[in-house]
Amino acid sequence: MHDKPIVLWFRNDLRLGDHAALAAAVRTGAPILPLYILDDVSPDCWKMSGASRWWLGESLAALSNDLARSGSPLVLRRGNSETELLRLVEETGAAAVYVTRSYEPWAVVLEQRLKTKLGEANVEFHRFGGRLLREPEDMRNAEGGFYKVYTPFSRAFMKVVVPAKAVRPPERVTSLGHQPKSERLRDWSLHPEKPDWSKGLAAAWQPGEAGARARLSDFVRTALKSYAQDRNDPAKSGTSRLSPHLAFGEITPAACWHAAVHAGGKTNGSDKSVETFLKELLWREFSANLLFHFPELPDKPFRKEFAGFPWRKDAKRLKAWQRGQTGYPIVDAGMRELWTTGYMHNRVRMIAASFLIKHLLIPWQSGEAWFWDTLVDADLANNSASWQWVAGSGADAAPYFRIFNPVLQGEKFDPDGEYVRHWVPELAHLPREIVHAPWKGDADTLAQAGVKLGKSYPNPIVEHGEARARALAGYELIKKSP
Ligand code: FAD
Repeated sequence: MHDKPIVLWFRNDLRLGDHAALAAAVRTGAPILPLYILDDVSPDCWKMSGASRWWLGESLAALSNDLARSGSPLVLRRGNSETELLRLVEETGAAAVYVTRSYEPWAVVLEQRLKTKLGEANVEFHRFGGRLLREPEDMRNAEGGFYKVYTPFSRAFMKVVVPAKAVRPPERVTSLGHQPKSERLRDWSLHPEKPDWSKGLAAAWQPGEAGARARLSDFVRTALKSYAQDRNDPAKSGTSRLSPHLAFGEITPAACWHAAVHAGGKTNGSDKSVETFLKELLWREFSANLLFHFPELPDKPFRKEFAGFPWRKDAKRLKAWQRGQTGYPIVDAGMRELWTTGYMHNRVRMIAASFLIKHLLIPWQSGEAWFWDTLVDADLANNSASWQWVAGSGADAAPYFRIFNPVLQGEKFDPDGEYVRHWVPELAHLPREIVHAPWKGDADTLAQAGVKLGKSYPNPIVEHGEARARALAGYELIKKSP
């Protein structure tokens, strides 16, 4: 086996450090063939989209450099993963394929098929963990089923699981000697052109493993100690912003876990913050478990009664929401942050999602699809579980009848309007008292702040009280359905 290569198939694990599959492959002493396949076929409608493709291009460039420096350059192929992988194995006479497990429904099916096909060809197929803290098959409740409620899941997790310690990156990755045919990254058009809308993304992020490590160490050094208080304030840098790095596997959740625990040990009084942060990592874990056991999560409501909800088709208002033109400043600020940076603060994600679902009665799947396109941290499990959570149709969801008032939410979480002023600059000069509800301002105040309602900034596209009553009526309807 030593002279036959091992194909190291990279997917959402674009790093060299703490990479169990790579470390195991290197230990065999065999030459390593690192491979990435741009597969727009297998995921079907959940293929990587807009902002994620920009991130992917940057992250692959970084991985490619790191691999070249370590000794074995990355091979790039495009097409159906199964076809391309089997083709490369045949071309190179590879003895084995090593891969980090993925949990998207289509990826699970693909891995099963590959196991059979490679087995028939006498090629070993080894799958490794790393994307999650624990494999979903190992998280069983007392009845042997899967957890549908977060709190018992996280309690059970905290009791029994100590995430694996990091594996060091290999010093050297032995190459095959001759490089198989590889496509060129620049031919994949991952970077947007005409127009190039990626400038805001590039200013906000450093994709790649080095960027992920820098982000983590910066977070544990600075924001972690006040995470419990500051994480709900969208104007502050109070959260880790590790989500895109985790989505692309540039860092493992285990590495984040250990870094936080280690920092907590050194900083007095930060225990609550460390615990809160670990619990957020467990929301990610819980969402992945839900998707693994309920593969329809991205498309169908977990609670079946929601299939009969009287949703509305409203292309005009959907567009106003997407563009940050709803007339509700906190919603618009969030949607514009998303459009510019590929990210939105978690608290504002909840408010903006709730507005789409409950104020506009637009199906959660439309919001999910927009987030999928525009988020740099788009993650099938987190995105679908979160949208269902907000809609009230999820396994362990917010009750549907809890309808956020976007003005009160704005006043609570952005009391000085700092976040709104930044992302909705046309409201920057409004006094604090009306920055979350400009229509409450008198003509003089608005004129002094340079705001012309209906011209420089829209009037609300729905009235809160009416929208609330309409949403509750819809909910009553499905409550009565058999
Ligand atoms: P931190 O607060 O620093 O949390 C650390 C990590 O924990 C995050 O990076 C993330 O991996 C995980 N995490 C935190 N909150 C959640 C959560 N509620 N659910 C699952 N994991 C969580 N997160 C995504 O990663 N991808 C998505 O596509 C996504 N879509 C969402 C859609 C909606 C409607 C909502 C309400 C939330 C969504 N989230 C999604 C969850 C959450 O908003 C982000 O994970 C978080 O804002 C990322 O910022 P951070 O890294 O600074 O988080």
